[in-house]
Amino acid sequence: MNLFSFIKGHVSIVTVVNEYATLKKAGLYLKGPCPFHSEKTPSFTVSPHKEIFYCFGCHEGGDVIAFVAKAEHCSPLEAAKHLIDRYNLSVPETILESTTTAPAKKRYYELCTLIAAWCHEQLFKSSQALAYVKQRGIDVKSIKNYQLGYFPGGLVAIKNLIAAMGKHNILADDLVDIQILSRGKQVLFSPFEERIMFPIADHLGRFCGFGGRVFKMGDMRPKYYNSHENEFFSKGQILFGLHLAKREVQTHQKVIVVEGYTDCIAVFEQGYPYVVATLGTACTPDHLKVLARYAQQVYLIYDADKAGIQAILRIAELCWQVNLDLWVVTLPAGEDPASFVAKGQQLGASIEQAQDIFSFFIANLGSDFSHKSLADKVGAARKIIELIARLEDPLKQEFLLQQASTTLGLGVDALKKEIYYLQRAQEGMVAPRVTLPHPKPAEATASDPAMLEKKIFYSIINNIDLLASHNEDFLCTYLPEPYKAVIDTLRREKASNPSLTFAQLFPLLDESSQQLVSRIVLEYQEVITNEVFDQLIVQLQKKHWKVIVNAIKLKLEHARLQGNEQEVQTVIQEFLALQKKVLDKKINE
Ligand SMILES: [Zn+2]
Repeated sequence: MNLFSFIKGHVSIVTVVNEYATLKKAGLYLKGPCPFHSEKTPSFTVSPHKEIFYCFGCHEGGDVIAFVAKAEHCSPLEAAKHLIDRYNLSVPETILESTTTAPAKKRYYELCTLIAAWCHEQLFKSSQALAYVKQRGIDVKSIKNYQLGYFPGGLVAIKNLIAAMGKHNILADDLVDIQILSRGKQVLFSPFEERIMFPIADHLGRFCGFGGRVFKMGDMRPKYYNSHENEFFSKGQILFGLHLAKREVQTHQKVIVVEGYTDCIAVFEQGYPYVVATLGTACTPDHLKVLARYAQQVYLIYDADKAGIQAILRIAELCWQVNLDLWVVTLPAGEDPASFVAKGQQLGASIEQAQDIFSFFIANLGSDFSHKSLADKVGAARKIIELIARLEDPLKQEFLLQQASTTLGLGVDALKKEIYYLQRAQEGMVAPRVTLPHPKPAEATASDPAMLEKKIFYSIINNIDLLASHNEDFLCTYLPEPYKAVIDTLRREKASNPSLTFAQLFPLLDESSQQLVSRIVLEYQEVITNEVFDQLIVQLQKKHWKVIVNAIKLKLEHARLQGNEQEVQTVIQEFLALQKKVLDKKINE
């Protein structure tokens, strides 16, 4: 038994899914609103017997591991670990040993978690640090929510930390290894001393790094000190606050991205829980890829002073690559979200007035247009045209052309002509899209001619004993892909394990086959009896009658040429039996 089958044997998919969506009984199955896409009518279906799920809206499907991997945006192995922790499963050593990832990784997260907890405790012990945090407008609720902390300074503090960690079998050397402490000539010290601590967690909420901010008057050190990157902590991938925001991000299908920890908290406190922060750096393609898993709309808060238009343009390009819609929220020059809020201003109005990236560019590139040199004018106009040409929505294109025409002082027709040339020049190239991603096409509907094959496939998956020696050759020949691949696997596995069960078969299928099986199982509620199944087979034989007859003719000819009279008789008997069955069926109809 491997880790996955152990987990599946100990946690029911219904229990797990119920933590993400409310399921209600619907016939043999359970239904609820899909946690992966927003919908009004529930199309997310779970089979408690087969332990699988399928969403008829977004076409995601699989077993409990696939569900958690999708919901938590992690690998199947991480999903397994998550389930072990969540449901307190005691996994036998033998199973664990074969699957554990680097114990160093687990240890690293544990260390960071303990340090975060220790610093959090220290914050409430230091009236000065606590007063500073509160004066920055961060309330106790947020301090707890983000587990903010304080790293006290001096030898006594370091000693206290080492003593506290010692209770968890952590040595000073371990703290040096993960660069919380540094070795001086004679003493240990920390670069985080006398700093407000912002513990940084990955998307699964595992603490993996720290940002420390100075706060005392006259402290001349750099304002921020961040953990160094290591194999578990990559600044270009991790977003501060994502583990707290991800549900809200998914629900709202939007995410606000800011640059600083305090900005993130300020925006959160203003009633926007779908906010995350880069770690004081610009957004990277990796950040956007992470965000694209959760939401379609990205709101970037833009400080009119700081972020150059070029920087935003660069992010816009990245957004197109990962199919995100970018909105720009402009704050007054010199303000960041935290300072803006600290002045008693509400962010709501600015967020509501967010400009989509196109309007933002037209307004900014075109500003002061009449005073630009001819070369700059042409350059700006081209850039805007390029942006508009990328759009797939003709109405949006038209609207922005009008806007651009006014800003640039050029006729709409001239702009349209440019777009036409540009698009022709790009023909054959795949233009990045800014529209919503197209859902995967739904397969076979009731009127589909492939319904019969689908029903046969469903019957077998629902009762794998239906695939028997007398029909498996035929089925493996006449069932089309993608069904054939699954039936082939089933046939192969059954050959070595005649009592194969659905639960054993499912993990052996590849991802797309798992999705297919989940969908088809959850699409039907019927119980197919052996008699009904036989009738379906006869229908399939009828459908392929000509081909079957030709194949039998060939077989017959072959036997005759070989002079194998016995084989000739067998083939003829086979043919007559088959013909009778198929023709009988015709009479019954
Ligand atoms: Zn869905």
